Order: sequence, then C-alpha cells, then structure tokens
Amino acid sequence: MITFDTVSKVYPDGTVAVDGLTLTAPNGKITTLVGPSGCGKTTSMRMINRLIEPSSGTIALDGVDTQSLDRVALRRKIGYVIQNAGLFPHRTVVDNVAALPRLLGGGKKETRSAAMELLERVGLDAKFARRYPWQLSGGQQQRVGVARALATDPPFLLMDEPFSAVDPIVRNQLQDEFLRLQADISKTIVMVTHDIDEALKLGDQVVVLREGGTLAQAATPAELLAAPNDAFVADFVGSARGYRALGFHNSDDRLTLNDEPTIAVGQPLSVLPGGHGRWVLVVDSARVPRGWVDTANVAGDQVREGDVNLSGTTARRGDPLRDLLNSALSSPSGRCVVTDESGVLLGTATDHDVIDAIRRARGVDGGQEHSDRGIGIPS
Ligand code: ADP
Ligand code: MG
Repeated sequence: MITFDTVSKVYPDGTVAVDGLTLTAPNGKITTLVGPSGCGKTTSMRMINRLIEPSSGTIALDGVDTQSLDRVALRRKIGYVIQNAGLFPHRTVVDNVAALPRLLGGGKKETRSAAMELLERVGLDAKFARRYPWQLSGGQQQRVGVARALATDPPFLLMDEPFSAVDPIVRNQLQDEFLRLQADISKTIVMVTHDIDEALKLGDQVVVLREGGTLAQAATPAELLAAPNDAFVADFVGSARGYRALGFHNSDDRLTLNDEPTIAVGQPLSVLPGGHGRWVLVVDSARVPRGWVDTANVAGDQVREGDVNLSGTTARRGDPLRDLLNSALSSPSGRCVVTDESGVLLGTATDHDVIDAIRRARGVDGGQEHSDRGIGIPS
C-alpha cells in the first residue's frame, strides 16, 4: 500500500506542482493517475521513489515513511517504467533487464537466466535477448522496459505513460498483456497516463488530478463514470461516459441467450427450421460463427461464401455488456452473437434483450418486466 498524506511539491521557481495530496494506492491493485498536462502526475509519482523530494507531507510504503529508507532500499522495492522504455542503448536487451540485479550484487549467470525468464513472461521471444534496443519495435522496447522494472521482483511498480509512445493497436495489445501479467504477479502499481480511456481500462482505482496538483476524485472506474464529483471530472471523463460505463457491466447473469438456427456454407436453405427469420447465422463445422446470410437474397439453392455478410462482431460470455451491444448493433440481424472462450456459438440475444440487461444492471426502471424470465447465461 502506498499512502500520500497531505503531500505537496513546490519547485524552486515557485510552481506548485502538487498541493496537499492525500490518497492510498491499495496493495495488489493498479491505481491510475490521470489529468490534464501539467497537473502534477509525474511529480506525484516521482516523489514515491524519491526521484523528487516532497516539500511537505509524508509518503509511506506499507506504513513505512519513505524518508526513513535509503535510496538503494527504495530502488529494490520499487520498479520504474517510463515512456519510450528508457533502455540503455549500448546494452543488449538481456543486459538491460539484468542491469539492476547486477548492480545490487547478483551474479552474472543467475541475473541473466532470471532476465531470460522475465523476457518470456512479458511476451518477448528469446531471439530478441541479444539484440540492442534500437533493433526492436516500440512495443517490444516497452516490454523490455516492463521486464527490467520487474527484475528485482519489487512489490511496487511505478509506470509513467508506459504505453503512450506506441500506435493505438500495439498500445491495446500491450495493455491487454499487461492486465494478464498483473493478474499473475499482483504488484502494487501506480500508473500515470493522460489518456482517460487507458486510465479507466487499466485502473482498479482511478485518481483524477486537476491543475495545481489537487485531487479531483479517486474512485473505481464504474463509480467515476456513474457519479463524477464535479463538472471538472465529468468533463474530463468525457461526453461518452454513459457508453463507457457499459464496459464495466458484465454480461454474466444478466442475459438469457436464445437458440439460434444456423447454417453452413454449402448447405441449402431447406436445412433451416420453419419460421426462421430473414437473417440466419452462418457457422463453420466447429460451430464458430462466420457471419450472417440474408435468406431473401441467396442466389442459388445453397449458401455460398459470397453470401456471408461479415459485418457483425461477436462477444464472448462474460464480456462487458458494451461488447454485446456492439455485436447487436453491428449485426444486420440486430442480434448479438455470444460465444464461449474458444469462439464456439452459445446463442444470441436481440438488441432489445441487451438493452434490457443494461437497464437491469444499472437498476433503471423498465427492465423489470423480464425479471421473472430467469436470468443467467446457461453454462
Ligand atoms: P504532468 O506529469 O501531470 O504533466 P508534471 O508533474 O510534470 O505534470 O508537472 C507539474 C507542474 O510542475 C507543471 O506546471 C510543470 O511545468 C511544473 N514542473 C515540473 N517539473 C518542474 C521543475 N523541475 N521545475 C519547475 N517546474 C516544474
Ligand atoms: Mg508527466
């Protein structure tokens, strides 16, 4: 647990970067610090490992005042990842990761083999170990940066805009990988970002700072979206917050799926049961959804590859209701397609069913009429 108790930082030129900050970053969780540029995020974070000294107030790690720890002890306890990874350019990838353990007295062999394990853990192939940072993509460098920060197995991890220098697709991958890694290692993490989407996606707790370095709100993502403290937070969280909030309502237990008649490419429409609708779901031989077919417009007497409309998306059981809504709205049939973990069809629900589930999840009037229908996706 990292605690800030009325911490302030005034730079020598008189700039008040952080003003009376009090907050707790709980153990094993990710706390994201977010806010407009210059609101004191980096300053706050760097005061934790004393790269910057607070002007007043106390920062403690599991109740121990950081001022009572020497810097070597602090470095051992706190991993640090920065934007662009900040790797040593003249050292190989493996030596970058092993650098701090070596500095702290570890043997060459052990530190290297530990570094190799860490590289694998962050999803980097062993063939990159002997390369130099400039020979890696931005996303790969960032993985090395994370591995290096974890090299002393510190309980605390600080990350300053770790994924902001890579393109959006790679950033998304790195974020997903990072969440999987964290599920495994359960570090106590403080992450700075200016990107509210990233803060909401990665944070168990989101701390919004405002200019002048004061706390605007600290809350879970769902709370922040549902009940912003004031106009500043509401504005910062953005106009799409209703939609974003759906990302935090899980589809489990809230929706009963319907059986969906299916067809495969090469099959005639006559395999379909009577009374099927105009749009029919096409699956492959493993019952993995392929797309939708408009039965009113099938040219021959059997479904051909070219008949399959690929515009719909699928969602997996347990995905946020937002993803189910997206699947329903992107599907020409108006039905969302839900699969199990391996992509096999479980069933569908109409856009109305999904909206009703959303209303129930939010406790809004109007979903009640279905409450006797029994909720819960059959497993
Ligand atoms: P953020 O990371 O949220 O963008 P910073 O913590 O980097 O914000 O900076 C907070 C404020 O402190 C800004 O106004 C910035 O200009 C100022 N600042 C940062 N570092 C220094 C410094 N070394 N000297 C004077 N002012 C600084
Ligand atoms: Mg910053």
